Amino acid sequence: MMASVSAETKTMDCLHFINGKYCSSVDHKTFENINPATEEVIGTVAEGGKKEIDLAVAAARKALNGPWKEISTQERSKIIRRIGDIILERIDELAMLETLDTGKPLWLAKQLDIPRAAYNFHFFADYMISVGTEAYEQDNIAINYAVRRPVGVVGLINPWNLPLLLLTWKLAPCLAAGNTAVMKPAEWTPMTATLLGEICKEAGVPDGVVNIVHGFGPDSAGAALSEHPDVDAISFTGETSTGTVIMQSAAKTLKKLSYELGGKNPNIIFAAEPKNKVI
Ligand code: NAD
Repeated sequence: MMASVSAETKTMDCLHFINGKYCSSVDHKTFENINPATEEVIGTVAEGGKKEIDLAVAAARKALNGPWKEISTQERSKIIRRIGDIILERIDELAMLETLDTGKPLWLAKQLDIPRAAYNFHFFADYMISVGTEAYEQDNIAINYAVRRPVGVVGLINPWNLPLLLLTWKLAPCLAAGNTAVMKPAEWTPMTATLLGEICKEAGVPDGVVNIVHGFGPDSAGAALSEHPDVDAISFTGETSTGTVIMQSAAKTLKKLSYELGGKNPNIIFAAEPKNKVI
């Protein structure tokens, strides 16, 4: 099943992407997606929770120890590069969805968000085949060397302000290092993340390597992901206060954490005419 985008009505229903397939929540729960610029409903979103996170983590674990492990570094790099290529091929559609979801100008999504999302994959496709490892000589006794291995199943939790740009800034290095991913996009901006599922599949990413579960944070999909005993690391971008909650849940299973936090930048809005056309 493909993600169902309607270019005519500018709407999209967002499903989870688990083990290479789009699916509803186990109990078929959904919530509405609102365009913040017009306050119109632009689709429904599958509302995931613990059950869907469990399914996604199990798929990611299986893929980590299965097909993803078997693929050579060169081949993995080619697949990651192809994801970036397809993002550029679909730039118009992705930019439109990003604008509908965030309310940001179309020119901005087209010039910044989507090209940078593609660049994230292109950058890490190159980086992963050029990165070396260190060796340390111990007098004349031994040479100790470092070996790079994937961390495992990684949870990627994303905010709403740069939906595809930040999600791919997490996913590209995650895949480059040989990990598998369970992504939890922001509940406000699920559209481009949903499309990323089929883009990854088309690029040749094996089923289960990239999983997407929609839903809310506290007592929902976000919390279930950060508490999950079979998730090895969490990469989170968002509010500092959310970061403290995630750190507490992750501590129980000693997960590795990577954070980009924020939360106090005001918007200053001027009356001037925009230089560029907006939709
Ligand atoms: P948020 O912290 O409310 O939500 C971010 C994500 O965390 C969402 O997917 C949400 O569902 C999830 N979440 C919320 N509570 C959770 C919980 N208890 N457990 C697990 N997941 C949970 O942030 P937001 O309002 O979506 O994003 C805006 C914030 O992100 C701002 O504070 C901004 O400064 C910050 N930000 C920082 C950077 C950076 O580079 N430092 C970049 C972009 C955004």
